[in-house]
Amino acid sequence: MSAVQDCLFCKISAGVIPADVVLESDLAIAFRDIDPKAPTHVLVIPKKHFADVTDLMSNDPDLASELLTLATKVAEHEGLATGYRIVTNNGEDSGQSVAHVHFHVLGGRSLSWPPG
Ligand code: 5GP
Ligand code: ZN
Repeated sequence: MSAVQDCLFCKISAGVIPADVVLESDLAIAFRDIDPKAPTHVLVIPKKHFADVTDLMSNDPDLASELLTLATKVAEHEGLATGYRIVTNNGEDSGQSVAHVHFHVLGGRSLSWPPG
């Protein structure tokens, strides 16, 4: 296991901490957010650890395509035909609280814009 010790999402991707998994690919996993902000709120993460989007794009940009592909599959799986939002918080000022890159897939209601 190439998990970073004490990283929550590395533990989820390794199955050490349980999660409600929606979809999975060879390199990525999608699971429901424990504190949903919309009727559908799924997190898409790479199985390999990267701290944030900056880290991901510096080291494995092709993996970003895989993550966005899985995010669109989540939207289809969840029936978000009228629209959805993909969000990623990047670093302290954004409010990123888990330092393992993740895309939020939000939908199932009308979403306000701009976010706070
Ligand atoms: P961030 O604030 O870093 O953009 O997003 C982290 C997200 O992870 C939050 O929406 C939070 O609710 C979610 N989260 C935190 N701990 C857990 C957990 O143990 N399991 C799941 N499924 N989601 C979590
Ligand atoms: Zn990690």
